[in-house]
Amino acid sequence: APAETPQVVIDAHGLPYLDAKLPVKKRVADLLSRMSLAEKAGQMTQAERGAVGNGGDVAAYDLGSLLSGGGSTPTPNTPEAWAKMIDGFQLRAQATRFQIPLIYGVDAVHGHNNLAGATVMPHNIGIGATRDPALAERTGAVTAAEVRATGIPWDFAPCLCVSRDERWGRSYESFGEDPALVESMETIVQGLQGARSGKDLKRGDKVLATAKHFVGDGGTGYGTSTTGSYTLDQGVTKVTRQELEAVHLAPFRTAVDRGVGTVMPSYSSLDIVGDGLGPVKMHARADMINGVLKGRMGFDGFVISDWNAIDQLPGDYASHVRTSVNAGVDMMMVPYSYKDFRTALVAEATAGRVSERRIDDAVSRILTQKFELGLFEKPYADTGGASRIGSAAHRAVARQAAAESQVLLKNADAVLPLKKSQKVYVAGSNADDLGNQTGGWTLTWQGSSGPITKGTTILQGMRDAGGDVTYSKDASAPTAGYDVGVVVVGETPYAEGVGDVGNGNDLELTAADKAAVDKVCAAMKCAVLIVSGRPQLIGDRLGDIDALVASWLPGTEGAGVADVLYGRRPFTGQLPVTWPRSEAQLPINVGDSAYDPQFPYGWGLTTLGRTPAGGLSTLKALGLAAAAAERAHRGTAGRALVTKARLLVQQKAGQHITAALAKPFADADHLLLTGRYGAAVRKLTEAYRAA
Ligand code: BGC
Repeated sequence: APAETPQVVIDAHGLPYLDAKLPVKKRVADLLSRMSLAEKAGQMTQAERGAVGNGGDVAAYDLGSLLSGGGSTPTPNTPEAWAKMIDGFQLRAQATRFQIPLIYGVDAVHGHNNLAGATVMPHNIGIGATRDPALAERTGAVTAAEVRATGIPWDFAPCLCVSRDERWGRSYESFGEDPALVESMETIVQGLQGARSGKDLKRGDKVLATAKHFVGDGGTGYGTSTTGSYTLDQGVTKVTRQELEAVHLAPFRTAVDRGVGTVMPSYSSLDIVGDGLGPVKMHARADMINGVLKGRMGFDGFVISDWNAIDQLPGDYASHVRTSVNAGVDMMMVPYSYKDFRTALVAEATAGRVSERRIDDAVSRILTQKFELGLFEKPYADTGGASRIGSAAHRAVARQAAAESQVLLKNADAVLPLKKSQKVYVAGSNADDLGNQTGGWTLTWQGSSGPITKGTTILQGMRDAGGDVTYSKDASAPTAGYDVGVVVVGETPYAEGVGDVGNGNDLELTAADKAAVDKVCAAMKCAVLIVSGRPQLIGDRLGDIDALVASWLPGTEGAGVADVLYGRRPFTGQLPVTWPRSEAQLPINVGDSAYDPQFPYGWGLTTLGRTPAGGLSTLKALGLAAAAAERAHRGTAGRALVTKARLLVQQKAGQHITAALAKPFADADHLLLTGRYGAAVRKLTEAYRAA
């Protein structure tokens, strides 16, 4: 604890709730029975750390929680400063009547992304591309270890949005457009929290996770909102009940089954076709939060609101407060209005408009997680793991994730992998930009270009791999005997909203990027890498490009991208979202009846080396074997058989991807993820015939 403030030693007073040997349920009941209404309301309040100065209000308002919103970092932005800052706030909490520790939360959505020097993972869209649940779990474990080592026990991640329209600025926070893919990546919850039982939460390398944003954040319609430019973000999701269940609720069911500790409702509104209610903001939907989440799904953690989300509800402030609390929101993220919230909640409860039962339920849920995290016994930062922050071992996991996330869309004449003997000309806006390659939610909320933290750019990774590389950002003079050009283009960072609005909010490459591609590809054989949070439109340019790679936002370890470029690891990534031919096709998703994308969902060539041989008879045999593997519940074998069939289709199709091929191809990947290996191969056989 900081030296300038008096040390308060936990004093058990002999009170039962401070007895770590008692069951959590008993401790919660005992503590709750002693608390005043104002103290309970305080527990339900979360303020922004930047709003509470040196923390005096933590005690004055009995605050239950503080957060660092995106980029709300201490100065200097070091592990020690984070731990010291949070310890200082905990010390304030220890000065309250019952010494209830704070629970501090951050958005560590791709590694401990607010901390300078931390290991930054690929954004979720890249993790989805890996199709590697074990790796997703390891990225979660690294994130948790780095976050908890700075005194933070709670992470507002993972985002379980099923992104259905890539014009949405949060598309990269999604593991993909297929709920089955999102569900398969929820191993990350175990990476963050540890065992399903929650028994690992006391460990110094685990954090409480948050499934967000409940529910339908990825399904908002384009142009249906009345809130100006934020049409897709925070807009209206209009779905049938069936679609709601199958697409948007399914990942939350899985998260609850995995024991996720907290859930955050979405800013968006839900409009269920045929229920006659029209669009209703999620923070007001008792049917969904109380009914589906806590009732039907049996979620027993607590619900944390989104940032200032209750301000978007209709009516006056008192009604915002009672509506959201009565709908089942347990803790309110009211960063700057925490005093108003607490006062209003006490008033609403006193007037009987929020029941005592509801308040007690909310506070019990919050206290339960604090006990489970061991915060009553150890409120101060356990920085034992701080030396692992940004360590080689952690970066190796991020590097592997970056490598596995690369999706090889086209590879004419086997331009990739590169050989060290080749003279390589590297160009483009994103070849040597760590900020662009980490994207939004990195150091600041929106992220920014340039050398913003520790890591290697793609260019540096290529040099470190021993490549013979010449670099010119704007592709000046791309002649003089190069064997191959590598042009790295794409987006600049953004978070939330609709993306890089300054760039027209479309999925077009910038004029400069297009010029770089055109120049290099006209002069030599070229590979184009797109570093972006979502697909970018390539259109007819595809014909001029020899190799095309979707690199997503690979994080701090550009070395991982270099690994696949130079063949140190094979390309194995698969598209987590459909790659459209044009903006007019959006939204376009696996399962659509009309489906004619440039590259279907699940597409991804490999450089594994061995090209599988075979035709229809091979596919037939693969189908039989896959069906047998399915019946015998042999997942690894089943997946390998489907992969082989997929490679056969891709090989035959080359770049001639028609609607007749794309639809069964994409459907096959969905079937694979849901364990229906036999049917997946049958679909791929259909695709093969169409190729
Ligand atoms: C985002 C959430 C995030 C919160 C706290 C909001 O703007 O929608 O995903 O957890 O801010 O930073």
